[in-house]
Amino acid sequence: MRQNGIHHVTAMAGPARRNLDFYTRTLGLRLVKKTVNFDDPSTYHFYYGDEAGHPGTILTFFPWEHAAAGRIGIGETQETVFRVPENSLGYWAHRLVEKGVSHEVPQKRFGETVLSFRDPDGMRLALVAVPGIDGEPAWDGSDIPAEHAIRGFHSVSLLLEKTAPTGAILSDVFGFTEVGREGTVTRYKVSDASAGGIVDLREAGGFLPGRPGAGTVHHIAFRAASDAVQAEMVDKLARNHGIRTTEKKDRDYFRAVYFREPGGLLFEIATDDPGFAVDEAADALGQSLKLPGFLESRREAIESVLPVVA
Ligand code: ZN
Repeated sequence: MRQNGIHHVTAMAGPARRNLDFYTRTLGLRLVKKTVNFDDPSTYHFYYGDEAGHPGTILTFFPWEHAAAGRIGIGETQETVFRVPENSLGYWAHRLVEKGVSHEVPQKRFGETVLSFRDPDGMRLALVAVPGIDGEPAWDGSDIPAEHAIRGFHSVSLLLEKTAPTGAILSDVFGFTEVGREGTVTRYKVSDASAGGIVDLREAGGFLPGRPGAGTVHHIAFRAASDAVQAEMVDKLARNHGIRTTEKKDRDYFRAVYFREPGGLLFEIATDDPGFAVDEAADALGQSLKLPGFLESRREAIESVLPVVA
């Protein structure tokens, strides 16, 4: 069966070391790749995920030491939400407090319990308790017991002037189905229950547009099982929605095309293969700085300008 859903979420952050500490130590994700922004190699690109960095578990950051804070608004991602096992929210509420991260009072959304909090840059995050995911892969290399570890993304929520045009692309191109409405939020879901299978569209006409910066999401990438599926999606975008994507870019760990969706967000279509074990051993992911081939000859200069993080 074709796997659909979110492939990865990429956001902007402040200081690299603080970002690394929060996601690996407080949230217990695995750093599955330490590389640079291929389009701006003076900036790191950190990838966090489960033990292998499976599609649907990957949150990535471009950290800048002196980044200005962004502002959430129309045409931006409002919240990035992770899944935890059904009985783990109590553990997490306690852990966040212990780590000095304040969280909001748990809420019910679409019948699920949601614990919202923010990262050190003010990026909005949440954990949702999901039944039946205990057996899914989880990184056990942190101090968080594997039984409570994050199991990839639950969802992202997008803030939009109008939700219908974005919803049409989720349904027609990325294999999502509208499954419910609650207030101003329409939920879209893929048919299987794997990580990254939900996108919530919040209609919030009249809000100010967002401002990119630390604590805001740069783009959302959706999964394509192969290059052929990616090409079909590109074709559908052009044919049914009048949208052209960029040319295909080799990101070493996947191949990507990008487009601006009708609500103003940057979307990407990323292939599932080859994944993160393509240039370092699966048991050593994230340990050394990996550079794409075209930057390898500049390694010394690049390393000399990147902040020291370990
Ligand atoms: Zn991306």
